[in-house]
Amino acid sequence: MKVTEHIKKANGKTMFSFEILPPLKGEHIDSIFNNIDPLMEFKPPFIDVTYHREEYVYKELENGLLKKQVVKKRPGTVGICAAIQNKYGVDAIPHILCGGFTKEDTENFLIDLDFLGIDNVMALRGDPVKSEAYFTPEKEGHAYASELVSQISALNNGNYLEEELQNTSATNFCIGVAGYPEKHIEAPSFDSDIHFLKKKIKEGADYIVTQMFFDNTKYFEFVDKCRKENITVPIIPGLKPIATKKQLNLIPYRFKVDLPDDLIMSIVKCKDNKEVREVGIEWCIAQSKELIKQGVPLLHYYSMGKSDNIKAVASNVF
Ligand code: FAD
Repeated sequence: MKVTEHIKKANGKTMFSFEILPPLKGEHIDSIFNNIDPLMEFKPPFIDVTYHREEYVYKELENGLLKKQVVKKRPGTVGICAAIQNKYGVDAIPHILCGGFTKEDTENFLIDLDFLGIDNVMALRGDPVKSEAYFTPEKEGHAYASELVSQISALNNGNYLEEELQNTSATNFCIGVAGYPEKHIEAPSFDSDIHFLKKKIKEGADYIVTQMFFDNTKYFEFVDKCRKENITVPIIPGLKPIATKKQLNLIPYRFKVDLPDDLIMSIVKCKDNKEVREVGIEWCIAQSKELIKQGVPLLHYYSMGKSDNIKAVASNVF
């Protein structure tokens, strides 16, 4: 079922959902199930599965030269989605990227998803690979998520890349895209970021999931701004409980997200990461409760491969 249909069916009641990462190559799929199992009691209508593109590593050869090697540390997004739908009977939402994909790769990926009975996709550009300062699309790929959304919409209308194909079957994907309450790191201004978000909706996106934020005011202001710009689709807040002291530096740097001073100081005072986890959970519970009061359709939690703190939050909120 489509995300938008789940939201309609819930009739104003806030639902719980979460995102998982595919296991590292070499790990068993049980590592995913062990994280999903404890969260099923909160009845998620869907579970997102992130996509991780290739990375480049340099291996030293015997002659001292370096050999560039492509590695994919977390493969398996499509297989995991199929396994989740099969095992838990809930919708699984694969993330799909511009990065590393040609248009042909994208089409084939979408055909696989359609055959597997997957109704939703989250369309993203992806970050630059670690060795590059700027995002570089594949030669025959997409530079921005809006172009990817446009290709998915075309397939939803039965338009495949090969124009000669006759009597094609149209897909029926519900399309999610990313939104940034504190602006995307590369965007020159908040207004330009909203302008391009609007383009993703115009190309056919059905809903938005936000980047994590730790101050609800940023989310409320973002929603107001979107509504003023006539972006009317559901805007699902993304939340993450802070779990380690290191994240105090990592999160603002990596995601360009501000942490409120109260949260920072509470974490600074913690003796160890066990205490940090408790602070992170309490903060996330307070954020969740306020968002529910404001009538958000869903609370979407970033699990980062660990479910115990998400369970602690959800038990207090749902
Ligand atoms: P876009 O919407 O393409 O925007 C990228 C930047 O370009 C923005 O600054 C935007 O303002 C600007 N822009 C857009 N269109 C144009 C244009 N036509 N001309 C000029 N500028 C333009 N990454 C992963 O690798 N795997 C995942 O599974 C994943 N899941 C995510 C889930 C969520 C909910 C979020 C919020 C992010 C996720 N990401 C994931 C990270 C995401 O890939 C990065 O944030 C990436 O840098 C931007 O992706 P986007 O889809 O927002 O890009």
